[in-house]
Amino acid sequence: MPSTKYIFVTGGVTSSLGKGIISASLAKLLQARGYNVTIQKLDPYINIDPGTLNPYEHGECYVTDDGAETDLDLGHYERFLNVPTSQANNITTGRIYQAVIEKERRGDYLGETVQVIPHITDEIKYRIKLLASDSNFDFVITEIGGTVGDIESLPYIEAVRQMRWEMGDNNCLVIHLTLIPYLAAAGELKTKPTQHSVKALLELGVQPDILVCRTEKPLNENIRNKIALFCNVEPTSVIESIDTKTIYNVPILMRDERLDIVVLEKMNKPVTPEPDLARWQHFLDKLHNPVHEVKIGLVGKYAELKDAYKSILESFIHGGTMNECKVNVSLIHSETILPENVSEKLKDLNGILVAPGFGERGIEGKIAAIGYARKNNIPFLGICLGMQCAVIEFGRNVLGFEDAHSTEMNPRTKYPVIDIMEAQKKISCKGGTMRLGAYPCRISKDSKLFDIYKKELISERHRHRYEFNNKYLKQYHDAGMIAVGINPKDDLVEIMELKDHPWFVGVQFHPEYKSTVANPHPLFASFIKAAIENKNK
Ligand code: GLN
Repeated sequence: MPSTKYIFVTGGVTSSLGKGIISASLAKLLQARGYNVTIQKLDPYINIDPGTLNPYEHGECYVTDDGAETDLDLGHYERFLNVPTSQANNITTGRIYQAVIEKERRGDYLGETVQVIPHITDEIKYRIKLLASDSNFDFVITEIGGTVGDIESLPYIEAVRQMRWEMGDNNCLVIHLTLIPYLAAAGELKTKPTQHSVKALLELGVQPDILVCRTEKPLNENIRNKIALFCNVEPTSVIESIDTKTIYNVPILMRDERLDIVVLEKMNKPVTPEPDLARWQHFLDKLHNPVHEVKIGLVGKYAELKDAYKSILESFIHGGTMNECKVNVSLIHSETILPENVSEKLKDLNGILVAPGFGERGIEGKIAAIGYARKNNIPFLGICLGMQCAVIEFGRNVLGFEDAHSTEMNPRTKYPVIDIMEAQKKISCKGGTMRLGAYPCRISKDSKLFDIYKKELISERHRHRYEFNNKYLKQYHDAGMIAVGINPKDDLVEIMELKDHPWFVGVQFHPEYKSTVANPHPLFASFIKAAIENKNK
């Protein structure tokens, strides 16, 4: 008997129904009952990973400790479960095919015709089971990206069908997430799209066990019974997923809908004890009852798309909640900021965050925003490119380095204050070749940063090719921009702090990838605290 239970989460009707949040919420409930759970995302696109995708395509690229560039849903998994994920938690069609083709070239399939079934589906199943065997999980929840019926996701659904057939219903369960639209003109919730979506899944040989129905309005008994009858599931397996103000309410909503109990009963697992959600509830109580309120400007070039800054926005929620503060984030397009309108645009803000990014577009707006924050004592946090821009701004306007720049934007600048890392110079392949994942950083004891982290040695995640040019270290230091965080092995500057400023920090790493509900990131918490002080001043 296999000991790990497999739960698959598929989606129908439309995308963006929140499969990632439902998966993370179910995982949270099972974890709160003492089970060892992990979540995996299978993405049907052909890129090897989302690292080469523009954030406009699928939102932010989330980076794990082991340096995997992954789907943003892994961020939700970590934020909900407070357990790190890794490369094994995110697999794309590109990666599956790459593995199969490598095996073919090696001769592993000598004599055979290599086909979607069984070779691709075997590789998919292997990757799902591998995750389970790695850490002896009680449950592996596998979220299948895309929508049922897409050509791209067919091999994944087929792999699910096979796994169920091989392992039996008690060991493999399928949750299908659908939409129950409300037609205002008819004043009714409509079940037909759900029926069609389940039919599409049935055509592929998979009968879902549980339907999670996304809806604007509560599902009454009639609707639940109708869905159950037409979709061939038990009425208790029709779970309402109603729109809610924050994703952090969803585990509680799912508990109230008994999703975890239905899952456990179907998989022959004990349903006692009750999930212990005391800490989660405490977080929610604070989140819903703020005593402060601040306005933060998030300056970046992907301002049209919130998902591009998902982890940063969530970190603000965690850091704000710690301070009992509602954080209103205003996304400001860096291309719209000019030296002549900067004060008009930023004057109402209690804090400014300049976002990570690549390439030249919008860079001067970021630099102008930083100059404004520096001169007007507004709390400032620069992340990765945001930190690099702070270095450029300081070089140009304090040290008098005319046209100082990063060689990423201007390879011929006279003052390359940000330059390509030595290790990056020979790299020509773009995919997966940045400085990625967790690296250590040592913090000077006589810094604000030390008071924030309360420890000397930290580890944070990275995703960049450029770095502070140590040739200028002394000039920056003497003028008041101090490298208070350094990588102990290779001397790369990790953190810059401004001496004569209430709160001005640039970090080469991405703190936002490590903020969770259970462990809000200290940098975000401290930044929000500074923003509250700025507001009360
Ligand atoms: N483009 C910059 C670099 O590669 C910053 C990257 C980032 O912000 N993640 O170094």
